[in-house]
Amino acid sequence: MLSIDGSYGEGGGQIIRTSLALSLITGKPFRVYNVRARRDKPGLQRQHLTAVTAAAAIGTATAEGAHVGSKEFSFEPGAIQPGEYKFTIGTAGSTMLVLQAVLPPLMLADAPSLLLFEGGTHNVKAPPFEFIRKTFLPLINKTGPTVTVELQRYGFYPPGGGRFNVYVEPAQELRRLDLVERGAVLSRRARALCVNLPAHVGERELAVVSEQMGLVPDQLDLEVSDNAISAGNVFTIDVESEHLTEVFTGVGERGVRAESIAARVVKEAQSYLASGAPVGEHLADQLLIPMALAGGGAFTTATPTPHTTTNIEVVKKFLPVDITTTQLTEDVWKVEVFS
Ligand code: ATP
Repeated sequence: MLSIDGSYGEGGGQIIRTSLALSLITGKPFRVYNVRARRDKPGLQRQHLTAVTAAAAIGTATAEGAHVGSKEFSFEPGAIQPGEYKFTIGTAGSTMLVLQAVLPPLMLADAPSLLLFEGGTHNVKAPPFEFIRKTFLPLINKTGPTVTVELQRYGFYPPGGGRFNVYVEPAQELRRLDLVERGAVLSRRARALCVNLPAHVGERELAVVSEQMGLVPDQLDLEVSDNAISAGNVFTIDVESEHLTEVFTGVGERGVRAESIAARVVKEAQSYLASGAPVGEHLADQLLIPMALAGGGAFTTATPTPHTTTNIEVVKKFLPVDITTTQLTEDVWKVEVFS
C-alpha cells in the first residue's frame, strides 16, 4: 500500500484528491497520514470527506478512518462504476474540487456518467464554475473525452446550496496536450455577477477593470441574479487566446471592498498577459493529471506554485512518469511530462 504524507509541500486537500483519482485509475491502494497538516483546520473537512466518499462510490472502494477531522485514512480501490451519482457536500465546500477527484477515473471509464453536485460553486481558493467550463474542460475535451457542465444554482459561502451537473462521455485513452504557445490574444472580457446583492457592487468592479486595463463597455458584462440561497459576488476576467481561454476570478468576501477584489483579479490577468505563457498558475497544477494519464504533455507557465510542485510528486507516486520543470526566462517555466 502506498503511504502518502499529507503534510508534504502545499500540505492541503489537493494531495488527497489527486491520490483518490489516481488510486482508482491504477488500482493502487494508499494510506495518507498528516492529512492537510499545513492548514489552519487540519484533517478532512466536509469538502474533502465528500471527495473521499464520492471516489469510494464511483470506484466500489473502501475508505477506512475517513470522517470529518480525520488526520489519517486508507483507501482500497475497486472497479470503476460509471453511472448516475449525486454528491452533496452539505456546506459551501467547493463542488468543483470534488469533481477534481472523480472526473479522471470517470473520463476513462467504459460508459458515460451523469453527476449532480450540491454545495459551493464559487469559492475562494478553488476553481469557480466558469474556470471549469471555459478553461479546464475545453482542454480535457481536446484529450479525448467529452465533458459538459451546466450550472443550475449558484452556491456561496456560508450556506452553499449551489447545484451543477456534469455529463461525462469517456474516452478509451487520453491524447497528449501541448500548450507551450498561447497564440494571439483574441479577446479580453470582464464580468461582474451580483447575486442577491445591489448592482453597484458589480459596477464598481467593472469600473476598476475599465480604468486599469482599458476595457470598453462592449467588453464588460454586469449580471444581476437571485439564483442562490444567499448573497454572492463573482468578478471574472476572461482572456481568450488561440489555444485556450484563461479565466481569472475573485469571489466577493465580507469585509473586502469590491474595488480590492477587482484589483486583485486585474493584477493576476495583467501578469498573465505580460508573461506570454499560455497556462495560468491554477491551470498548471490541474493539467498534471490529464497529461500524466496521457503519458506525456508540455506547457509553459509562470513560476510553478507549491500546488504544482506538490502535485508533481503525488502524481509520480502513482504513475510511471517523469515530470520536469525548467526555467526559460525570469518568469516563464516549462513543465514537461514524459512516460
Ligand atoms: P485546503 O483547504 O486544504 O487548502 P482545498 O481542498 O480547499 O484544500 P487546495 O489543496 O488548496 O484546496 O487546492 C485548491 C485547488 O483549487 C488547486 O487545484 C488550485 O489550482 C485551484 N484554484 C484555486 N483558486 C483558483 C482559481 N481562482 N481558479 C482556478 N483554480 C483555482
